[in-house]
Amino acid sequence: MESHKGSCHCRTVVFEVTGNIREVHICNCSICTKKGIVHSLIDNQNLRIISGENSLSVYQCGTKEASHWFCKTCGIHVFGRPRMNPKRYTVNVRCLDHFERIFSESREVRFNGKQHPLDDRTGREIPHPHPRDA
Ligand SMILES: [Zn+2]
Repeated sequence: MESHKGSCHCRTVVFEVTGNIREVHICNCSICTKKGIVHSLIDNQNLRIISGENSLSVYQCGTKEASHWFCKTCGIHVFGRPRMNPKRYTVNVRCLDHFERIFSESREVRFNGKQHPLDDRTGREIPHPHPRDA
């Protein structure tokens, strides 16, 4: 099992993710686009905050189902809880120490958060790339 260390820009918030990252998600919703987040969905027990927990702040918008955690000092988004699955984390892969290697070795999945599946009012079931129980 791999583990990946990551941090915000000023390194106040340092964290570690356990598990293999083979797939990253790029979401086209308004906040993910503006932040440029590259997501990796992980289980709660696989995220460990090593330092800086008190420096985290949370931003919520829209339906407030998702949480966007960022460092209060440098403003960098480190991880969040996605609307699709608020019981799990999505780590910002860009904050991991070996982002370029991890990104180049991962499959890129596009998530259409702009027309979010939970917003669909037509009753159509829209397939989504976030594996709920993986
Ligand atoms: Zn910081």
